[in-house]
Amino acid sequence: LLRSLLNKKAPIQLGRVCYSSSSVPTTKLFIDGKFVESNTSEWLDIHNPATNEVVGRVPKATQEEMLAAADSCSRAFQSWSETSILSRQQIFLRYQQLIKDNIKELAKMITLEQGKTLADAEGDVFRGLQVVEHSCSITSLMLGETLPSITKDMDTYTYRMPIGVCAGIAPFNFPAMIPLWMFPIGMVCGNTYLMKPSERVPGCTMLLAKMLQDSGAPDGTLNIIHGQHAAVNFICDHPAIKAISFVGSNQAGEYIYERGSKNGKRVQSNMGAKNHGVVMPDANKENTINQLVGAAFGAAGQRCMALSTAIFVGESREWLPELVERSKSLRVNAGDQPGADVGPLISPEAKTRVESLIQSGVEEGAKLLLDGRHVNVKGYENGNFVGPTILGNVTTDMTCYKEEIFGPVLVVLEADSLDEAISLINNNPYGNGTAIFTTNGATARKYTHEVDVGQIGVNVPIPVPLPMFSFTGSRGSFRGDTNFYGKQGIQFYTQIKTVTSQWKAEDATVTSPAVTMPT
Ligand code: NAD
Repeated sequence: LLRSLLNKKAPIQLGRVCYSSSSVPTTKLFIDGKFVESNTSEWLDIHNPATNEVVGRVPKATQEEMLAAADSCSRAFQSWSETSILSRQQIFLRYQQLIKDNIKELAKMITLEQGKTLADAEGDVFRGLQVVEHSCSITSLMLGETLPSITKDMDTYTYRMPIGVCAGIAPFNFPAMIPLWMFPIGMVCGNTYLMKPSERVPGCTMLLAKMLQDSGAPDGTLNIIHGQHAAVNFICDHPAIKAISFVGSNQAGEYIYERGSKNGKRVQSNMGAKNHGVVMPDANKENTINQLVGAAFGAAGQRCMALSTAIFVGESREWLPELVERSKSLRVNAGDQPGADVGPLISPEAKTRVESLIQSGVEEGAKLLLDGRHVNVKGYENGNFVGPTILGNVTTDMTCYKEEIFGPVLVVLEADSLDEAISLINNNPYGNGTAIFTTNGATARKYTHEVDVGQIGVNVPIPVPLPMFSFTGSRGSFRGDTNFYGKQGIQFYTQIKTVTSQWKAEDATVTSPAVTMPT
């Protein structure tokens, strides 16, 4: 079935259906267990970023359709929340296997709509799959606490209970991983889920929904709507929705956090970043250069954990020419081409924005050590390509330092000491991730203790925690107080019920009313 969804020659049955009047496939809504065509008159085109050809269309769901999706979630919650935890676990055990079996098909869809290389797209699925695998441990993760005999004949225990209908709003850059940070954990806890994928890359979520249905998830437990602002506002305002998970830009994330919170919902909002890599002169040079290049330019820099800013401390600045040479060796090409290292940016607007940020650096006094503008990708002249770019002599007042570039651009600063580097990073508003490259344990320890960033790598360029931990971006990169996945994810999607119970022996009956607080 999945193969037929992706094989252009075969009639497409579910996530995307060919209209007879148009050769462009349309993305369906997933409402109450059915993949249905939207009645909307408003559609958005989905482009292949390597060619800018239209490869699909996605509807802006109507108010009626969004209400139907939310109602379906509300109805399904009644029985899903009562379904045994072992049954829910079984569904997710089947789900993880189905994702594993179809990883290549999912990756193809990601490369088609998002542009990243096929190998990187498989990584995107794999990191989401790990979250699904972890959710299969729900029988341990959802355990409550007990304390017997808090006083005579009295015991206290807690249950972790689902909270109701939850919703997820996802960005374009990880079409598999980020939706998989959301609905599997929410659902395995007993909640039902309303998902709004990024309107630029909806295909992968549709395939994932079909696989979840095939794994046995009952109708209505997952619903999918598409759209932009109206869909986001719907989620922020609908009274049945109790919690919102958002990942994306600060502009959207802060808005959703505020609007959702005002409406009494839990909101967790993972947002933008400016991640610094500190290079100490005692670091292993070969490892460090390779890791910097991979983490700055992989996925064309469109990762919230991309290492987009390097700080060379002391004489490590002498490694810059080698960094430039190594970066030149990366092959810029369409993501489905063999040997491609750096794929296209998501849209022509993103390309223009990244190029203008490079130009702003030049005009504000940075040194253009490697210029990836005007890169020529044979056969893909219409694609949104920017090659690896390095700006040296960057200072903290420059626009290219202050803004998240979200492209294959590494900005390089220099510092005379570790203290100077730490102070520079702590003065940056973002706190998503950072890395230090050093062979000195004391340096690494000082750094991890003093740097005010939520996720730190020591000789690890992109320290995204595995799902038994949580994704702990901080400061300007996060709003809310409970993080994604891991223990924090379970906490986000559950509420605690505390039971205090007294069972007295028959001969210990309460003989008079207690009107004072027990002491
Ligand atoms: P985006 O904010 O443009 O879109 C994310 C979602 O919000 C989409 O579903 C979109 O429809 C919706 N949206 C967009 N603009 C909106 C607005 N003004 N009001 C309400 N809703 C809106 O983000 P993107 O471009 O898809 O993703 C890139 C951003 O996401 C980068 O800033 C990146 O750092 C961030 N990101 C963060 C993390 C993290 O975990 N911290 C992970 C991945 C991406």
